[in-house]
Parts: sequence; C-alpha cells; structure tokens
Amino acid sequence: MGILLRLARQWIAGENAQQGIDQVKAANSKGILGLLNLLGEHVETREDIEATVQEYLKLLDLIDQAKVGSQISIKPTQLGLNINFDYCLANYLKVAESCAGHANNYLWIDMENSPFTQSTFDLYTKILTKYPNTGVAIQSYLKRSEKDVKNLIPLGAKVRLVKGAYNESPDIAFKTKKDVTENYSKLLALLFTQSTKENFIAVATHDSKMIERSKELAKENPAATYEYEMLMGVRDNLKMELVAQGKQVREYVPYGPKWLSYSIRRIREKKSNILLLGRSLFVQ
Ligand SMILES: Cc1cc2nc3c(=O)[nH]c(=O)nc-3n(C[C@H](O)[C@H](O)[C@H](O)COP(=O)(O)OP(=O)(O)OC[C@H]3O[C@@H](n4cnc5c(N)ncnc54)[C@H](O)[C@@H]3O)c2cc1C
Repeated sequence: MGILLRLARQWIAGENAQQGIDQVKAANSKGILGLLNLLGEHVETREDIEATVQEYLKLLDLIDQAKVGSQISIKPTQLGLNINFDYCLANYLKVAESCAGHANNYLWIDMENSPFTQSTFDLYTKILTKYPNTGVAIQSYLKRSEKDVKNLIPLGAKVRLVKGAYNESPDIAFKTKKDVTENYSKLLALLFTQSTKENFIAVATHDSKMIERSKELAKENPAATYEYEMLMGVRDNLKMELVAQGKQVREYVPYGPKWLSYSIRRIREKKSNILLLGRSLFVQ
C-alpha cells in the first residue's frame, strides 16, 4: 500500500487534512485556488457520518488558520443522503453555517450517480435559500441537465459544470464523447447567457475546446462571473496558462484514507494515466 499511495499522490494530497492544506498552499503559491474534498462516498453509519461532518468543520478551521485560499466540496452520500434526506440536509446545513462563519467560505455539493440527482438538487435548493455561498455540480452527460440548468439559474444557483464521471444508462445519459461534449457546450452557453449577478459558473473541465468556448462566451457576456476548476495532477500546464491570462483557477484537492478508489477512477478516465503512474515509479 505504501508504494501505491506514493504513486497516487499525483491526484491526492495525502491521507490527512494537513496534507490537503499543504497541497493547497503549494497551489496558492502558483496563483491557483483550492477546493478540498475528503475522499469517500456512501458512508453507511451515523457515527461515521458525524465524524465526516466534524472533519469538514475542522478543515474549515485549518483553512482559516493556514490562511490558504480554498473552498470545500462534499458528496451527498458522505453526509447521509443514502440514509435519510432530512438527516443529510441537517448535516449540510451544519457545514454551510460554519462555512458562512469562516470568512464567507464556499460549500460545493458534488453530484453523484443518477439515483441521487433529484434529491441532490432538492438538498441544494433548500441550502441555497439560507446560504447563498453554495454551489452544485451539473453533469452534461445527463439528458435532464438542460432542464435542471434552466430551473436552477433563476434561483441564483452557483453551478459547477462537469461532463460526469459515473456509468449511466443510455435511457438517461448521452453515451458518446461527442454528444456529451456537445451538451457541455450547449449548457455552457445557457449558463453564460442567462446568468445574473446572483449566479456563478465553475467551468470544471480539462477539455481545451470547452475552455476556449467559455472564453468566447465570457467575452460576449461580461456580466457572468466564472472560474476554471480542474483536478489536482491533471493538465497542470493548462492551469498555469489560464493563470497567466488572468483567469481564476481552482484545483480540486482530494485527501483521505480512501484514496485508492479515487485513483482507480482517474485511471479509468484516461488509460494513459497508467503510464503516468508507471513513470512515477522511476521519475521521483
Ligand atoms: C473540479 C472538478 C469537479 C468535479 N466534480 C464532479 C462531480 O461532482 N460529479 C461528477 O460526476 N464528476 C465530477 N468531475 C469529473 C468530471 O465529470 C469528468 O469525469 C472529468 O473532469 C473528465 O472530464 P473532462 O471534462 O476533463 O473531459 P474529457 O473529455 O474527459 O477530457 C478532455 C481532455 O482533458 C484531458 N484529460 C482529461 N482527464 C484527464 C486525466 N485524468 N489525466 C490527464 N488528462 C486528462 C485529456 O487531454 C482529454 O482529452 C469533476 C471534475 C472537476 C475538474
């Protein structure tokens, strides 16, 4: 496990919160903001969920104490969405309240697989009415997402647009890379053209074409506020190019003992990551 952890370090900051903070500090020194996430999903017991809530509260303190620029991002099933909606909502509200008290930090809600899509939006809209510094991810591979974007924008939603990471059925999801990207482009246009000052757009992709498209849209819609978000360890040169162009860039920094399943997902996304993994065996 020790060697594997060393290899996975390209995509995860380490096993504990302090290592997450250290990674964000390094990113901040290059002009990149952080988005910290404690790895894990489908937490099964209330005891473990309570521990997760406490971990995020501690993380917010650490962000303040270390004076790093970072927000946090949490998966709904980490806070009990697979157990009970109201219980999960109460847990999110605890973290959102603490976020608001920490120099107006920002809470992002990750989007998981489709059984949780609607309940995640229901959670989000409830949290948003009380805590405006809250955002949610929307997946362009889902056919429903256009409707979701249209419903959420008038509510003042902050949206992180991603392509989507789970394996969904063709009944509900676009399955080809081309269709997913076309829908991404369409949703980007909707977000940029319809956003008001209440909204915020996180363009969360490593796809250069979509990033170029967002730059055009930003020029045509100067009122829209936005940033770029990418994963730690992916397209670091592109992040620096955007920083040099004066763009706001944020890096998703996962940490925690459950690093293995996250690393496997990164490898599935892009087979050449195996080469990266292999290379880091030799290039220290
Ligand atoms: C900040 C952030 C938050 C996210 N949150 C969620 C979420 O809440 N829910 C969810 O379902 N998904 C989430 N994702 C994952 C997302 O859905 C995609 O699975 C992932 O970002 C890959 O899609 P892409 O847009 O980068 O495009 P792709 O079409 O996969 O990639 C475009 C190009 O980027 C490069 N690239 C992409 N991935 C890699 C990689 N791993 N290593 C090296 N190069 C790569 C390649 O050059 C590739 O051709 C998030 C992603 C980011 C960046």
